[in-house]
Amino acid sequence: MSDWYQQFTTTAPGRIAARRLGLPRPAILRRYRPGQPLLEGPALVGGASGGRLAAMIASLLKGAGVDVRGEPPTQPSPTGGGRPADHWGAIVFDATGITDVGQLAQLHAFLAPAFRNLGPCGRLLLLGTTPESCREPARAAAQRALDGFVRSAAKEARAGATANLLYVSEDADHGVESTVRFFLSARSAYVSGQVLRAGAGKPAPTADWERPLAGRVAVVTGAARGIGAAIAETLARDGAHVVGVDLPAQGAPLAEVVNQIHGTAFQVDITHQDAPARLAAYLRERHGGVDVFVHNAGITRDKLLVNMRDEQWATVLAINLESQLRINAALLEGNVLRKSGRVVCISSTSGIAGNRGQTNYAASKAGIIGMVQALAPAMAQRDTTINAVAPGFIETAMTKAMPLATRAVGRRVNSLSQGGLPVDVAEAVAWLGQPGTAGVNGQVVRVCGQSIVGA
Ligand code: NAD
Repeated sequence: MSDWYQQFTTTAPGRIAARRLGLPRPAILRRYRPGQPLLEGPALVGGASGGRLAAMIASLLKGAGVDVRGEPPTQPSPTGGGRPADHWGAIVFDATGITDVGQLAQLHAFLAPAFRNLGPCGRLLLLGTTPESCREPARAAAQRALDGFVRSAAKEARAGATANLLYVSEDADHGVESTVRFFLSARSAYVSGQVLRAGAGKPAPTADWERPLAGRVAVVTGAARGIGAAIAETLARDGAHVVGVDLPAQGAPLAEVVNQIHGTAFQVDITHQDAPARLAAYLRERHGGVDVFVHNAGITRDKLLVNMRDEQWATVLAINLESQLRINAALLEGNVLRKSGRVVCISSTSGIAGNRGQTNYAASKAGIIGMVQALAPAMAQRDTTINAVAPGFIETAMTKAMPLATRAVGRRVNSLSQGGLPVDVAEAVAWLGQPGTAGVNGQVVRVCGQSIVGA
């Protein structure tokens, strides 16, 4: 599934042609490899005065072997604070101390000079206080301003660099390590312009950041190919035992995927009446329960609304949405999902923005978001979480089937000017699946390179 244009722009004639014609030059993104350092250069860490998180982030990064400059709390300076570096691997700014609009100038003063030196595939991470928790209008306004700031900075970032914002509620300061690591590392290669909220939770300690899912049992539906196969492989790489689920007709490719990762296969049509009960019974008997359940199986049956047949409507809603509701009910009723359990549901940017010819698909994917938000409080009470991942344009069989022109445009209309890979979705799922990612609950994380499609 090669992107010939991206390859062309890595050649000398391609570079020259793209520059002369003002066309995008999609960077080759830095993706995670086991053993890779967290960052590819030093980190500049700073913050507005009175911030809660900069010192903690600096010590967390030092613990991860990162060269940290700009000892916090940093007084903003015209040179961008800290000792300069040729290329920052990451710039982290703690804006939690900002309580009014005037103080936002500290953000500008710190980042305006430093952002220029953000290296290829570097990371800008802003930390703020959840605006909904700010009672004073001036503080809420200033904190919410970070949202517009980071989405714009992400559009200005160059050479594969990303910018994201993490709002941390005041009771969640010590539960954000897995999330900070995700946003700074190469695991979030195709996540940019995103705003995430972390609340209180009970994060389980992570003994080994290379294998944060060690000892956990994970289920992935639709694991025989595409994004599901990548999720299965990534969860196994991170230490989980993976049970891959797919249709009996996909038995051979499913076996190939699970055999490679020493997992197990479970063949079932997830829309069958007894599928949730069978799955729950299998997980209880074989594994004593499950830690991570990934609802990935999904289909498209695209037609304009006026041409859509009943069967095309019903099949998409049944596979993409109703099966998830029924399986979740079975996991919770039977206490099959263990403490620190994580449910991750694959939605789509189509479910956020809508898409021509996809009334059925977009309805199913938006419905997933409704389900995740409604279930989140009950999940938190059990020390578990549920979140949605909404991929944008990902290079798979699904997108290969698109008409040529639609595919060519779909790939390019995002801040990274390229399609994502299945592994990019898988990395987000793996992070949300970690026992340490306890405070992220009821959220939708887009893996779309900041596509212009969707909020
Ligand atoms: P895919 O068609 O390559 O794989 C889907 C898998 O689900 C297949 O192995 C299929 O056999 C399985 N499946 C389908 N119906 C099933 C059922 N009833 N029971 C059990 N298994 C079933 O799709 P993909 O591109 O890898 O997409 C995976 C998920 O990501 C889907 O939910 C899709 O909607 C979502 N998504 C994909 C993209 C993209 O660009 N490819 C974008 C946004 C969202």
